[in-house]
Amino acid sequence: MKTNVLDLTRKELSLRLNPPFRAKQIYQWIYQKYVFDFDLMNNLPKKLRSELKESFRIYLPKIVSTEKSRDGSVKYLFELEDGHTVESVLLPMRSEQRDERGNLLKEARYTVCVSTQVGCKVGCSFCLTAKGGFVRNLTSGEIVSQVLSIKAANNIASNRRVNVVYMGMGEPLDNLDNLSKAIEIFADENGLSIGARRQTVSTSGLAPKIEKLGKMNTGVLLAISLHAVDDELREKLMPINKAYNIADIIEAVKRFPIDQRKRVMFEYLMIRNLNDSLDSAKKLVKLLNGIKAKVNLILFNPYPGSPFERPEAERVERFQKFLLSKGLLCTVRESKGLDISAACGQLREKRRDDGYSV
Ligand code: SAH
Ligand code: SF4
Repeated sequence: MKTNVLDLTRKELSLRLNPPFRAKQIYQWIYQKYVFDFDLMNNLPKKLRSELKESFRIYLPKIVSTEKSRDGSVKYLFELEDGHTVESVLLPMRSEQRDERGNLLKEARYTVCVSTQVGCKVGCSFCLTAKGGFVRNLTSGEIVSQVLSIKAANNIASNRRVNVVYMGMGEPLDNLDNLSKAIEIFADENGLSIGARRQTVSTSGLAPKIEKLGKMNTGVLLAISLHAVDDELREKLMPINKAYNIADIIEAVKRFPIDQRKRVMFEYLMIRNLNDSLDSAKKLVKLLNGIKAKVNLILFNPYPGSPFERPEAERVERFQKFLLSKGLLCTVRESKGLDISAACGQLREKRRDDGYSV
């Protein structure tokens, strides 16, 4: 099959072109003007356009459904070339602000939550993505095109600020080769121009891969799905903890290179009567001692048949206050998209229930 241009970094593309600088123009067409047809790239010589068509294609996964939440976040279900589906969520972080004359004061900002695999091998007990097992890795083009399609579908101007979080379906560090290429393609200044410092990789804690990613010096931000402060509970929630325990993860995080002004994010999924006590909060403070960390409390998002419940609001508040009182930055993830079940895997499951093929 012809190579999908979206799977290539600009360097890789340029090595296959003569003259190589045409790669820059092709990147601008695709990622900044949302033109996905070589014939329309009118600053390329006609001969080159027909050569391109012979060796390459520009393929983007199809948006097969969208669900808009009351809070403005939109969940997209993408169908890949082989018929499998993955989802992404567009989260508006700040809406556009204009003065009374309509002049733009502040532009809108967005975050896109992307998937990196169809399914997941890690098998966390609270996660819907895990239920379907692991199917395959996404290619770098399939990762990047989630953001590209969403920008194009919403006419989001190419220079609008977009952040990327690898928090959709799958374990990004279990697909490190394609992830690192996606990081590079996203960051390309002739493309989407989403610098590595605006990309956050979230991992269940594959310690050796955290180190490997660190050694690549990409500059991405790191988020750790910790969810428990002792190994016994963490093993129950996340079987991966048997291979790499909490101490291993903390060690790997300490060696991970991060920007002086940035912090490592620790995600902590709060589950009723399981890990929401003050005692857990105290242990968490101890654990993160000496790390430039911030904690993001996530409230468990229930789904039909889920084994856990959401914690009570007072317990979340008490937990957060305790961390803050100890000088640890701590936010509670807004329940963005809760009404459209924007936690990983849920839209896809819904369609499965409706009898759609997945
Ligand atoms: N595999 C990576 C990234 C994808 S999951 C990871 O585990 O970090 C992104 C986040 O969603 C993780 O923190 C995960 O624990 C969380 N998550 C999974 N199921 C959830 C649920 N039912 N409710 C709330 N958060 C959930
Ligand atoms: Fe995989 Fe993350 Fe879900 Fe765990 S929480 S099963 S690592 S996607």
